[in-house]
Amino acid sequence: VVRLTDVTRSFEQGGVTIDVLRGVNLAVAPGEIVALLGPSGSGKSTMLQAIGLLEGGFGGRIEIAGIDASNLGKNDRAAVRRDHIGFVYQFHHLLPDFNAIENVVLPQLITGKPRAECEARAKELLTALGLGQRLEHRPSKLSGGEQQRVAVARALANRPHLVLADEPTGNLDEATADVVLRQFLSLVREEGSAALVATHNERLAAQMDRVVRLHDGVLA
Ligand code: ATP
Ligand code: MG
Repeated sequence: VVRLTDVTRSFEQGGVTIDVLRGVNLAVAPGEIVALLGPSGSGKSTMLQAIGLLEGGFGGRIEIAGIDASNLGKNDRAAVRRDHIGFVYQFHHLLPDFNAIENVVLPQLITGKPRAECEARAKELLTALGLGQRLEHRPSKLSGGEQQRVAVARALANRPHLVLADEPTGNLDEATADVVLRQFLSLVREEGSAALVATHNERLAAQMDRVVRLHDGVLA
């Protein structure tokens, strides 16, 4: 569902070029859940940003759902993102003025689906994540674990082929992180999405299908 061939990414900083990704190769099969490990600063977030097509500026080739996304302009990148990718970040990035269900409905409305269907889908996901009693709460009225679960529901709302998660439970205490990650993984599996999950937690990584490690800008 995603294939990276010799992907590179450099940043200019004070006249110095830093090569963060130095030829990353990776293929993730449909439905496969892959853990991305690597020390702080090794480029995990940079790699997820490249795959998520949040910006151009990478070298090499990134294919998503059979589409060569390497040389797309901004609008085409946004379209690939909308049609194929869901994101979960360390901090939930939910819209503060909208309740849980609305946060999950909004990304679906963009696709032109009728509101009633979007709401049904949102309820289904939130209920599967144990938030059936929290549908109308705004993010500020939810616990950290609940906020992350809403973010998970939002990421899955449009049935993405690929979910990119950047330390999705990194902001939670250990016990909550465990519960939320377990729920996340089982829902992703049920939905049949593939996922690439950056984490520092070896124990949580061991629960996924495969572990890849980023080291010196390449994957071991
Ligand atoms: P962590 O585990 O701490 O989240 P990470 O593996 O996600 O780390 P990145 O955030 O991808 O690491 O950063 C990798 C390197 O790229 C770091 O040295 C960082 O300073 C550098 N970097 C990332 N984004 C930029 C940017 N926009 N401009 C300059 N340097 C950047
Ligand atoms: Mg990071």
